[in-house]
Amino acid sequence: MSPPEDFHTASSKVYISYDPANPPAHPGGNWTRFICISDTHSHTFTVPSGDVLLHSGDLSRLGREDEMRVTVEWLRSLEHPVKIIIAGNHDLPLHREWYEHSYHRFHDTKRSPSEVRNLVDNKENRGQKGVVCVWFSSKSLSSSNKLSTHLFNFKWQPYYGGWAFNYLPEEAPARVAAIPEVDILLTHGPPHNVLDTTLTKVHAGCPALLAHLSEMKRPPLLHVFGHIHEAHGAMRYRWLQAKVESSSSNAEGTIPPTFVPRETIMVNAANQPLGRQAFVGGQRIPCGGPGFQPVIVDLLDSAT
Ligand SMILES: [Zn+2]
Repeated sequence: MSPPEDFHTASSKVYISYDPANPPAHPGGNWTRFICISDTHSHTFTVPSGDVLLHSGDLSRLGREDEMRVTVEWLRSLEHPVKIIIAGNHDLPLHREWYEHSYHRFHDTKRSPSEVRNLVDNKENRGQKGVVCVWFSSKSLSSSNKLSTHLFNFKWQPYYGGWAFNYLPEEAPARVAAIPEVDILLTHGPPHNVLDTTLTKVHAGCPALLAHLSEMKRPPLLHVFGHIHEAHGAMRYRWLQAKVESSSSNAEGTIPPTFVPRETIMVNAANQPLGRQAFVGGQRIPCGGPGFQPVIVDLLDSAT
């Protein structure tokens, strides 16, 4: 398969591959630049500047305090006015209830979930550096150029090895039903069949998540996730069934229903290289390196 390529529409510009020392220019005042990263696992690397930084989870390797501290200090050092971060299945103590009975599978000694959480989600992070942690609910935010964006985070993913924030197939519909219609959606895992192909050619994304999004009258403009590192990339996802807006009648007869084209920019923003793509000429690609760079998504403000 050829590598994913950049794409542009009238209201969006998406860059997957670029010179990190000279990233594409910000398109201007009525656009908002989202920088999408994920699965950084306590690695740090150069991130292009932008209006909003989105991190789709797996902040750490196993959620230890020292690992989380590396990530938080790195995120604090970045200049993005708004930063949204969510947890992933590797950020173990952040799933407090699960961690209580499963910590011994990963950690010699039990960590303090409160301490780990406070590292990520505290007043200092929410202060002048603009880190906003959205954990449990939908949220409105205003970025530096006054874009008002509705956003929802969802850190759960389908069961895999009994990690944090896993759900069983029978629990999936109820879990994903919590996701409302929003402009920007962050999940840790991908929807089924969307940038979700594993090294063993399995589509590991969640079928219930895909079904839930497909039933929305207005699916997200931008859906950012990670989790399946080897499927890093971005694409325009056109929903198969156009939504019937309404049908009505007047003196001349029935007015046909309106079909609204629906499309989502899907981004698998995983930065930690995995699989064959992790090596070039026998050399391991660093986290956030070629093929696994932060994805730049510029959205025209009027699109949201
Ligand atoms: Zn990961």
